[in-house]
Amino acid sequence: MKAAERFRARGTQKIRDKDASDAPLATGDKERDERQVMELAKKIGEYQDIFYAEHRRKILIVLQGMDTSGKDGTIRKVFGELDPLGVRCVSFKVPTTVEREHDFLWRIHKEVPGQGEMAIFNRSHYEDVLVPAVHGLIGDKERKRRYAQIRDFEHMLAENGTVLLKFFLHISKAEQKKRLEARLANPDKHWKVDPNDLAERQYWNDYQQMYDKAIHETDADHAPWYVIPADSKDHRNLAIGSIVVETMKEMKLAYPPPNEAYFKVKVPD
Ligand code: AMP
Ligand code: MG
Repeated sequence: MKAAERFRARGTQKIRDKDASDAPLATGDKERDERQVMELAKKIGEYQDIFYAEHRRKILIVLQGMDTSGKDGTIRKVFGELDPLGVRCVSFKVPTTVEREHDFLWRIHKEVPGQGEMAIFNRSHYEDVLVPAVHGLIGDKERKRRYAQIRDFEHMLAENGTVLLKFFLHISKAEQKKRLEARLANPDKHWKVDPNDLAERQYWNDYQQMYDKAIHETDADHAPWYVIPADSKDHRNLAIGSIVVETMKEMKLAYPPPNEAYFKVKVPD
C-alpha cells in the first residue's frame, strides 16, 4: 500500500496518543532506516531538479505538530538534499503587531511558492485556528469561519498550480516529555527551550482535539492531510519522505523539450 494512502487522514479518525508510536515503515535497524531515509531525500532532490527546470507548478509542504514533534528534524533529514536555489523554508512564529493587524492569511500568502519553487512551512496558517481556539480567544463560530477561509485559500492555490501536502507530526505526550527533558539536560540545546512549551503542554488534550477538528475540516484531495506517527524519528522521516516521493512521481515531471536549434549553435571563440 502506498504511504500516501496509509497515512491519509480519515474522516472518523481520532488523534490518540497510543497511535503515535506505530512505526510500520521502520525496520528498527537504525542504520538501514537512516540509509533508506537518505535514499528518499536524494530522490526528492532528483525530482526537484526536473521540477525546477519545468518552472511551471509549485509545491507547498506544511509541517504541523506539537513542540518537539520533529518539524525541524524533518526539514534537515527529508529535505536536506534539495538544491537551496529552489526551496524556501519559512517558520511562522507568534504573529507580530503588524501581522495581527491584518487577516490571518496575509502573512501566509506572501510566502507561498512561485513557479518551480518548493516552500516548506514550519507551522502555518493552522496555528491561527489552533492556538486561539485552545486558549478560548475564538469560539466555534469564528473557528468555522477560519476553516472555510482556509478551504477557499487552499483551493485557490491548487487551482493556480500548487501541489499541497500537509503533515501532522503525531507524537505522544510521554514522548514530548522525554524530548523536553533531553533538551533541558543538554546545555547546547537550551537555546531551543521555551518556557512557554511547558505551559502549553497542560493543554495537550485540547490541542489534540483541535488538531482533529482542523484536519477533518480542511482535508481535501487537492490539499490532503497526513497523520504521521512520529514518536520514532526514523519512521516519521520514512513516512514523509515516501509520501513526497510518491507525490512527485505522480506529477510526471519532465525537463522542458530541447531546443533543436541549439545543437547547431557554435560558441564563439
Ligand atoms: P517554535 O516553532 O518552537 O519556534 O515556536 C513558535 C511559537 O509560535 C509556537 O509556540 C507557536 O504556537 C507560536 N505561533 C505560531 N503561529 C502562531 C499564531 N498564528 N498564533 C499564536 N501563536 C503562534
Ligand atoms: Mg518551540
